[in-house]
Amino acid sequence: MSLVLPTPGADTLRAISDFHPFLSAFRRDLHAHPELGFEERRTAARVAEALQGFGLDEVHTGVGRTGVVGVLRGRWAGSSKSVGLRADMDALPVQEEGDCAHRSVHAGLMHGCGHDGHVTMLLGAARHLAHTRDFGGTVHFIFQPGEEGHAGARVMIEDGLFERFPCDAVYALHNWPSLPAGTVAVNPGAMMAARDDFWIRIEGVGGHGAMPHRAADPVVAACAVVAALQTVVSRNLDPALSAVLTVHSLQAGSAIVHGVPTQSVTVPPHADIAGIAKWFDAPAGETLRKRVAEIAGDCASAFGTRADVRYLPFLPPTVNAPPCAELVRRAATGLLGAGRVFTAMLPSMASKDFSFMLNERPGAYFWLGVGEDVPGLHHPRYDFNDAVLPTGAALLATIARDALAD
Ligand SMILES: [Zn+2]
Ligand SMILES: [Zn+2]
Repeated sequence: MSLVLPTPGADTLRAISDFHPFLSAFRRDLHAHPELGFEERRTAARVAEALQGFGLDEVHTGVGRTGVVGVLRGRWAGSSKSVGLRADMDALPVQEEGDCAHRSVHAGLMHGCGHDGHVTMLLGAARHLAHTRDFGGTVHFIFQPGEEGHAGARVMIEDGLFERFPCDAVYALHNWPSLPAGTVAVNPGAMMAARDDFWIRIEGVGGHGAMPHRAADPVVAACAVVAALQTVVSRNLDPALSAVLTVHSLQAGSAIVHGVPTQSVTVPPHADIAGIAKWFDAPAGETLRKRVAEIAGDCASAFGTRADVRYLPFLPPTVNAPPCAELVRRAATGLLGAGRVFTAMLPSMASKDFSFMLNERPGAYFWLGVGEDVPGLHHPRYDFNDAVLPTGAALLATIARDALAD
């Protein structure tokens, strides 16, 4: 074991701040060239090129289709410990409305969730740690494709991520508008909800709108189902548990032109409902799943129609392992001061696919504040706050060092 001591947090932040202009330029280049999930070929190539330039020991591309993993071994011999740091790479199918110089060059695509910042901060940590190598064991820098609705984390895992790149623990962050810039939030438990998706087709009997008694109207049945579904959370779950159920789509009949009488008024043969259910505790998830099917089935049959229900558990809840959350808290406190680290945040009802990695390995997911007065995530004017790039990179580097420390 070498006598060199780990670099204290302040030194890490100072060292990374020295190449802040590089990080900002890199982030803006990614912002200008957004790519959707599993299409991150340019992004992956830029990441791989950067990692090779930093002198990582190994750089693997094509992990989970367009994912990249960089491997860095510390210079202190004798440790078999390993840690994974993960960033998501994909952009959104949203037309950017901002007018910054680095706005998206691709119509209808933008980095509206700040993943350009996530990639850049993880690269900043890689560059710093590749320079110092002041740790024992191995850091795996995981650049994940397809976070936005593609469950890319699961695809990487199914591609053998943790067999090929063993990780004792995994860590990731998401930038968080509404938190002051450069602050950190990490709970010793739930951070983000699970997400289930459901689809209900109400099969009725079509007919003439003036003779509905000869039909079985799926529109009326669907309206009753949607109204009755509002009771699942309010009347079937323990009020002390958190959950939300939202029907986000209800479609039936022919297209509507406002103010123009429809030529043929018919009772349509079917109506389609789509929704999501969010929850944290498995028993709550089970209740939601059971009651959606029961209400849809019973309600539809009360109206002489039939419900065909599909229910898909899509993302598990993102729940931090308390010792890993504590490691993040300590690292962040050392770097930023206790007043800038929050550990009792209300969890978000949004969902993240990093939960798949947390199901495989202990770890923690934390939020990095990017400012209270900035557009929210997925807003067409969102633009990652470059001021926090060194902070995020220093946090990730410090977490890796601490996780590998004896
Ligand atoms: Zn997003
Ligand atoms: Zn995101």
